[in-house]
Amino acid sequence: MRFVCPLCGEVYEEKDAGIPFADLPENWTCPLCMAPRSSFRPEEGETEPEPPADQSRPSGDP
Ligand SMILES: [Zn+2]
Repeated sequence: MRFVCPLCGEVYEEKDAGIPFADLPENWTCPLCMAPRSSFRPEEGETEPEPPADQSRPSGDP
């Protein structure tokens, strides 16, 4: 999971840091712009393709 600072664009990579973002202390701040942890947002880079919702139900009409 990656979290992005909305102010400076700093990316917190949980795998690189070795610490889950949720486990960071409350006083943790962005290393670049000192933005509070709460201002970080989960990165939404990966857009999952929507599965085709075209499910034609079987015709049950007699
Ligand atoms: Zn920042």
